[in-house]
Amino acid sequence: MVVEYKHEPFTDFSVEENKNALLEALKQVESNLGKEYPLIIGGEKVTTEDKIVSVNPANKDEVIGYVSKANKELAEKAMKVADENFEWWRKSDPKFRADILFRAASIVRRRKFEFTAHLIKEGGKPWKEADADVAEGIDFLEYYGRQMLELKDGVKVNSRPIEHNKFNYIPLGVGLVISPWNFLFAIMTGTTVAAMVTGNTVLLKPASTTPVIAYKLMEVLKEAGLPDGVINYIPGPGSEVGDYLVDHPRTRFVSFTGSREVGTRIFERAGKVQEGQKWLKRTIIEMGGKDTIVVDNEADLELAAQSIVQSAFGFSGQKCSACSRAVIHEDVYDQVKDRVAELTNELTVGNPADASNNFMGPVIDQGAYDKIMSYIEIGKKEGKLVAGGNGDDSKGWFVNPTVFADVDPEARIMQEEIFGPVVGLTKAKDFDQAIEIANNTEYGLTGAVITNNRTNLEKAREDFHVGNLYFNRGCTAAIVGYHPFGGFNMSGTDSKAGGPDYLIHHMQGKTTSEMF
Ligand code: NAP
Repeated sequence: MVVEYKHEPFTDFSVEENKNALLEALKQVESNLGKEYPLIIGGEKVTTEDKIVSVNPANKDEVIGYVSKANKELAEKAMKVADENFEWWRKSDPKFRADILFRAASIVRRRKFEFTAHLIKEGGKPWKEADADVAEGIDFLEYYGRQMLELKDGVKVNSRPIEHNKFNYIPLGVGLVISPWNFLFAIMTGTTVAAMVTGNTVLLKPASTTPVIAYKLMEVLKEAGLPDGVINYIPGPGSEVGDYLVDHPRTRFVSFTGSREVGTRIFERAGKVQEGQKWLKRTIIEMGGKDTIVVDNEADLELAAQSIVQSAFGFSGQKCSACSRAVIHEDVYDQVKDRVAELTNELTVGNPADASNNFMGPVIDQGAYDKIMSYIEIGKKEGKLVAGGNGDDSKGWFVNPTVFADVDPEARIMQEEIFGPVVGLTKAKDFDQAIEIANNTEYGLTGAVITNNRTNLEKAREDFHVGNLYFNRGCTAAIVGYHPFGGFNMSGTDSKAGGPDYLIHHMQGKTTSEMF
């Protein structure tokens, strides 16, 4: 029986000691800006001429680091190393592998303020969001380590009197892990260590906007005792390195988290059996969302407005779980709309490194800024602007939290993932219609229902078709081990990160039966 794990606590920055520790850590991170980072292939540090430049999205002039950039040749080299190392790593003791995760969790805990400060700089995360990202990464390390210990002996099956049967899980092979920039530490760490702790070797391709934090994870894992060649760090352009390795006949599985566009591309390419390929590639693909909060007429309206605003604008709406639509019962629509606008106007936006600790920081890069601003222009035609509506990309990429009211549920801003601080409000005549509207996108990631009506909660439990459904709270902030996370439909393969089924996606079941 594995000891139960309570999640990593969040840091209270109103405590002077914590605030000062983070300010100190920010200074330390600042003193290390602009360094060079190599690739790591088989433990060897490889430096390339061509570099990825990681910048602070709150201050474009501040370079976080210059990171060597993999190309097809280096990707091929990394694949060979991972393939060779799989032969012994697959037989390594699961307890040895789990211990690496537990030690890594302790190392990150020791360096927690430094990691938080790094995420503020490289990801543009406000303090609270950066702290939660680090805590979630620690949780993944602890949880997947424990899960591996649960799974290491397989699952008991029946044996007849003259036979002995065993059913256990074995690793798959070389896994390609492709991570996004939004949970630059947590998702990158969780997807990487899940693939490794299950006995696979890994090619880690982090998002090109946030590659330095992935290098830091490599340092932590090395200190925690990870042998060389088990995880290979190969940042590089998705379009070159990503495509090449997704197509590679020796890739056994792909673990991807990111946009619908890239996810469906990977799904399609991984489905093609290449010459010399001996398996059907496994894909774990987690994509976008168009997440909705439904507000009923019998509801705590202050809770409703707070939930919409927190879920829509936390980390500038750049969470796959962010609320980008609210469907509100017509009886309470005006009240909720006015309160959402009021709360939104109170939010502060600015450089998250500031001691003032603004609620919202920047969006990740120029591409994101331009895309969000173009959706705001679309929104101005599709709905009534009641808050925000403008941005400033002179120093960093800042977009003000924006609310559109009276939007048709079929409008583009109600259907397409914007991935920024923009929320659309729409009216429903009753609860049934509200659920119908909530289900009318191609996604199915998260959703929330605010109501005191038990019958309606039960109706939502049955009919609101999302992977993560929350009652009387916002639709973000899933916690590892408490709220297994993953979506339906075009939100992905519902692999449920941080849940009891997750590791099994990285393994295959083997039955052995011996007759006596
Ligand atoms: P993205 O543009 O799809 O990029 C994700 C990763 O895919 C990056 O590492 C990217 O590399 C790589 N990539 C790009 N083109 C590729 C290709 N042709 N082949 C293989 N890999 C390729 O997504 P993002 O902007 O980083 O992240 C935001 C998206 O992630 C949103 O849609 C959000 O909803 C989703 N998300 C989903 C979840 C979930 O659990 N469902 C969680 C977090 C985020 P480069 O950076 O080099 O282009």
